[in-house]
Amino acid sequence: FSNKNTIKANTTCSYCGVGCGIEVSVDKKGKIELEGIEDHPVSRGMLCSKGRNLNYVVQDQSDRLTYPQMRWSKSHPLQRVDWDTAIDRAAAVFKTFIEKHGPDSVGFYISGQCLTEEYYLVNKLTKGFIGTNNVDTNSRLCMSSAVMGYVKTLGEDSVPIAYEDIEIADTFLIAGANPAWCHPILYRRIEQHKEKNPDTKIIVIDPRVTDSCSHADLHLQLRPGTDITLLQAIGRVLIENGNIDLNFIQNHADGFESYKEEVFQTSIADAAQICAIPETDIRLAAQYIGNAKAFLSMWTMGLNQSTQGVNNNFALINLNLITGQIGKPGAGPFSLTGQPNAMGGREVGGMATLLAAHRNQANPEHRDEVAKFWGVDSMPDKPGLTATQMFDALDSGELKALWIICTNPSVSMPDANLVDRALKKAKFVIVQDISYKSDTVKYADLVLPAAGWLEKEGTMTNSERRISYLPKVVDAPGEALPDNEILMRFARKMGYHGFDFETIQDIYLEHCQLTKGTNIDISGLNYDRLKKEGSVQWPVPSEGHPGTKRLFEDKVFYTPNKKAQILTTGISNQGDMISTDFPLILTTGRIRDQWHTMTRTGKVSKLNKHIAKPYLEIHPADAKKRDIADGSPVIVKNERGEVKVTATLTDKIKQGVVFLPMHWGKILESNFGRANNLTNKAFDPISKQPGFKYSAVEVEKF
Ligand code: SF4
Repeated sequence: FSNKNTIKANTTCSYCGVGCGIEVSVDKKGKIELEGIEDHPVSRGMLCSKGRNLNYVVQDQSDRLTYPQMRWSKSHPLQRVDWDTAIDRAAAVFKTFIEKHGPDSVGFYISGQCLTEEYYLVNKLTKGFIGTNNVDTNSRLCMSSAVMGYVKTLGEDSVPIAYEDIEIADTFLIAGANPAWCHPILYRRIEQHKEKNPDTKIIVIDPRVTDSCSHADLHLQLRPGTDITLLQAIGRVLIENGNIDLNFIQNHADGFESYKEEVFQTSIADAAQICAIPETDIRLAAQYIGNAKAFLSMWTMGLNQSTQGVNNNFALINLNLITGQIGKPGAGPFSLTGQPNAMGGREVGGMATLLAAHRNQANPEHRDEVAKFWGVDSMPDKPGLTATQMFDALDSGELKALWIICTNPSVSMPDANLVDRALKKAKFVIVQDISYKSDTVKYADLVLPAAGWLEKEGTMTNSERRISYLPKVVDAPGEALPDNEILMRFARKMGYHGFDFETIQDIYLEHCQLTKGTNIDISGLNYDRLKKEGSVQWPVPSEGHPGTKRLFEDKVFYTPNKKAQILTTGISNQGDMISTDFPLILTTGRIRDQWHTMTRTGKVSKLNKHIAKPYLEIHPADAKKRDIADGSPVIVKNERGEVKVTATLTDKIKQGVVFLPMHWGKILESNFGRANNLTNKAFDPISKQPGFKYSAVEVEKF
């Protein structure tokens, strides 16, 4: 809405998966201001430091890509070209590789920050028309273990809870997550709830003492990689104490006897020793959960970013299942989403192993349904390359051309030196981004300038299945175009039908129709409704449907026999093993005021003040052994690479463990601060999510 001097619009924050509501004002001089929307169902007027400073990110256009650039060969520099030349070249190169080497010789690597419509177009283009499943996203690096955890236990990738369960729960288990820094507004709601209801119990599982421990009744500071042992030990105590829901187990779940047999293989004393925590704390955690009227478990990267990420998910979700704490107010297993639209991307099937609207890529009938809908003969049946596999395939020459949209793999992928090498060796790389400061731009043969937040319209889905509409409020700088427009121009140049959408809503409505009859049916939604109501939680199967707050209230699950599956985990290994050469376990993560690889938050001086430089957290005892003082320069190294940073001595980290923030790239000097020089690309066998949280390293004085 607008008056003579000011345009105002309501939108959603473009950083994390919380999905806070923002009111934007643009005055006649173009100055952008923003504040939290008071009656927003997610954020209730609140915004964290990152969201509150988004206006500076949009207004500072000094780093923006404003015209297409292309190099005529690998030995030529990037040169300015017009859009027609850029799209002609992209189409000519893709056609040549597809004709010569087949459709699997090309791929798209996209982002959980893409809007749903963008995800939809890339997915349709790649799977429906190019004929390959080689479309994956950086959501593979954060959510894919949770996706498979839900699929295997509940029958589908479906977050069962609503945020309002936070104000109803009386016991929280926060495992492998630091929401105080990474999902701040949700954490603020937990804090407020605890302040009003001091008897509420909060249990935190993390090898570090983080700000999320500040309201915790119990912090289980486990040894990295021992989550399954700990969660199963809690399960064992719950069974021993009779604090399980036999009615739920007998009538609504399978697998309890096998689970019981597995958890009883390890004594609580042994589990305590393996996890390096007191036995009494395991029993206390089980007591809190056993006494809960409404038990909400929450987790994110600490469990997901593991070579046993799916099993970690099973072990956690099992606690909700054996206690019957699901499908009722205040209860359920709640996967905290890292990115703002990781869920929207999954809804359209925008990953190498998924199909539209949660259909199963391995099911020929499901593939036929989608093919018929898109008017193509068939859909490819071979699963596509997942994130790390794409860069391996570039390195080996199997993949010839990669189109990278809205992500910076040179900093964010594990084993980043290998990723750099692969990008250098690639025959053709397209980078579609808003900023030339993305470290990946230097590897591009073709650079396409994209519109950013507020400069394009579309939708996103947050962690509680809430779909929001994001309006275009300002123009993109220079010749930058919305990602949808770039993709449609390319598809038309390739000669594909079905990409003549007149409006962005038309793309959305096509996606909505493809969900009809599925468990994520949103055929009752359109932009008018989203604009009027602000946001709605799926499923929304008809026009008058109010949206769905909570799933599984009828205790009927999406599995073939309609029962939840309590699953055993078996024995899994870490990708890395500590050794005498590399005796410390490196774990990586976010800091409060930065986002991903800092191409946006790094522009805001207020945010850079919180923590200005990359650092290594190390326990004083580990530092002493290496003669390292607080603030001294150190090299962190292993066989994959090294990182030079300053040491921060703190007893908030467990002895034997070190921590690096994941945001910094190769700035200031070679290898300075890029944590992913050290991480391992080994991945979980089911989810294909890499194990960022466990790398064997050594630290030396520099
Ligand atoms: Fe944005 Fe997440 Fe902060 Fe909310 S909590 S303002 S969505 S970054």
